[in-house]
Amino acid sequence: MRVTILGAGTAIPTTGHSPAGIYVEAGGEHLLFDAGPGTAQRLHEAGGSLWRLGRIFLTHAHVDHCLDLVTILFALRIPQPARTKPLTVYGPRGLKRLYRRLNIAFHRWLEPRTYRLALKELDETTLRFGGCTVTTRTMRHSTAALGYRLEARGKSVAYSGDTDVCENIVALGRGADLLILECSHPDERKVPGHLTPSECGKIAAAARCQHLVLTHFYPVFRGYDIRRRVRRSFRGRLTLARDFTTLALGGVPPRTAWRSQTVRRRNAPS
Ligand SMILES: [Zn+2]
Ligand SMILES: [Zn+2]
Repeated sequence: MRVTILGAGTAIPTTGHSPAGIYVEAGGEHLLFDAGPGTAQRLHEAGGSLWRLGRIFLTHAHVDHCLDLVTILFALRIPQPARTKPLTVYGPRGLKRLYRRLNIAFHRWLEPRTYRLALKELDETTLRFGGCTVTTRTMRHSTAALGYRLEARGKSVAYSGDTDVCENIVALGRGADLLILECSHPDERKVPGHLTPSECGKIAAAARCQHLVLTHFYPVFRGYDIRRRVRRSFRGRLTLARDFTTLALGGVPPRTAWRSQTVRRRNAPS
């Protein structure tokens, strides 16, 4: 399994921290978790392809997590090449209404012409496809939101999307090889519906995950020691994600040279 963070930031433009998107290659499946603005472009830069994507899992209908659904569906209408592979988009309740409204706003240019598009609204459930299992839990956010846990070939990755502290994110991350948590604001500037570094550390410790990956950083973190706050409670492996941070599980080598990676990393805070 290979996990590529395509966007480690929010809607606020920040070098090296773009809006949310995570590309996962697992057991022959090509999956996207969230599709914030610019995700389609960064998927391409990371060596992925919209034409190979089989499933998109949206955590919630905030712009920084879903706007590139428009870009992706629009691109897939253009026959260069014509897509035939079916595409399934999952999300919390309201997904179908969101699609209908976006499709009308964009003059029906989101409708597929050469492939089958399925939209599936999820509650708390477990899905199985290929060699993968996906479990969902509702998150604590300012709108309907889901967190996801993917298991494939004996490895597991959990992703919070946006959430405040809740039992469900601990449950999703329990014993996970990777737990990807949003980390939005410093401890001293807590915003309801989001997590702080100390809270992320406590969740990771309670879940006993192997490796904690933090993402969704607002620029207010500039110069702030995130690691020190997390380390008060979590002793496992810790990564502060940047755009294109890649994590390999189960013997899959991380990708190395992308043209853009060196430049982006040089500009990004750690
Ligand atoms: Zn949100
Ligand atoms: Zn967000």
